[in-house]
Amino acid sequence: MPRGKTDPKDSARIVLANCGAIDPESLDAAVAAGAYEGLRKVIAERIPPQAVVDEVTRSGLRGRGGAGFPTGKKWSLTAPGAVKYLVCNADEGEPGTFKDRLILEGDPHELVEGMILAGYAIGAREGFVYIRGEYTRSIERMTRAIDQARAAGFLGERILGSDFAFDVVVKRGAGAYVCGDETALIESIEGKRGFPRLKPPYPGQVGLWGHPTVVNNVETLANVPAIVRRGAAWFRSFGTPASPGTKVFLILGDVERPGAIEAEMGTPLRTIVEEYGGGVRGGRRFKGALIGGAAGAFVSEKQIDVAMDFDTPKAQAGAVLGSGSVLVLDEDASVPKLLDEVLEFFEHESCGQCTPCRAGTAQLVRILRRALTSERRGEDLDRLVALAQAMRDTSLCPLGQSPILPIESALRHFRDEFLTCAVPVGRL
Ligand code: SF4
Repeated sequence: MPRGKTDPKDSARIVLANCGAIDPESLDAAVAAGAYEGLRKVIAERIPPQAVVDEVTRSGLRGRGGAGFPTGKKWSLTAPGAVKYLVCNADEGEPGTFKDRLILEGDPHELVEGMILAGYAIGAREGFVYIRGEYTRSIERMTRAIDQARAAGFLGERILGSDFAFDVVVKRGAGAYVCGDETALIESIEGKRGFPRLKPPYPGQVGLWGHPTVVNNVETLANVPAIVRRGAAWFRSFGTPASPGTKVFLILGDVERPGAIEAEMGTPLRTIVEEYGGGVRGGRRFKGALIGGAAGAFVSEKQIDVAMDFDTPKAQAGAVLGSGSVLVLDEDASVPKLLDEVLEFFEHESCGQCTPCRAGTAQLVRILRRALTSERRGEDLDRLVALAQAMRDTSLCPLGQSPILPIESALRHFRDEFLTCAVPVGRL
């Protein structure tokens, strides 16, 4: 069960409270730990859907997929319609990110209940959970949990004897990073190639098969049962006023104890690295970190005290919280090499639909590699930034708009390293 506010050594847990503590394949174990209490409360007390939306709005819950958009507002902005859909984005393709997998595998009923409550709130009768194809155990456990929930009367027609009907279908992704974009994911569920759509219209207006659709991340939905059960004020007792609640952080790279933790929003980066991660491996110096995955940003050692919430990294370090991954770099880490890998990843994952990204991602790799061997490195590095800025302004979806973040932040903090490192072409 969720604990109260705790010191850093004893994480404040909401979404991972039961992970590792219960048998994730047992409905009885989940129910004994509090699963479906929120749903029972809503049905038994005849709480209207709008009141659920209002409670989630008051809680200040923001999307945990990376964008941080207020969840209650997203639900409120959904267009009216006789047919609406809820989609849970479990595609989780961001490099170094596996937070959603922990929930899918460790406490699938928490997510099923979150989806039912969200479906109730927005007026949907059907939900889809789109899980990346490589997550075979996640797919198995979610499928089992959905079957168990349906057999127990938590899903299907006349849920818990009420007039409310809702069901969930598992959709398996095919391994495309771009399907983490909500519109590409919708195209994929419709059976088409995962090409992102131009926005607006947003899925809340025109989504799955043309109907209003809410797309929420796994971690976002997993917070909903506890909010409904314990209330918005309780949820706001965690985190910061602008970023309430907790966050699952992934600690990676050159640390003594890599892994995943759930901690309050606003936990300083230093606490994540030094207390939870056990410090930089081998007692070496903290050089910096790549925060938020490939679409994230680099920070330097000067920013180790930045508070990890949705707004502070941007305001104080030009970075983003993103998926919550923290890739720690020790004093020997090569930022040019890491940036090369990031750019190669974008080139590989570009869906090719729009020219700025299709051609631009390949050019970014080429320019960076040339920059690291040319006589006029500074000029090539400036070209790299200019191209990434043009891609940000002209690409159709976040994939093509993202390379500017790691490029600009890497050069802001580590430009000297780019100007002096000796790396042969193609051997980064
Ligand atoms: Fe595809 Fe890239 Fe254009 Fe997005 S920005 S639609 S990934 S080509």
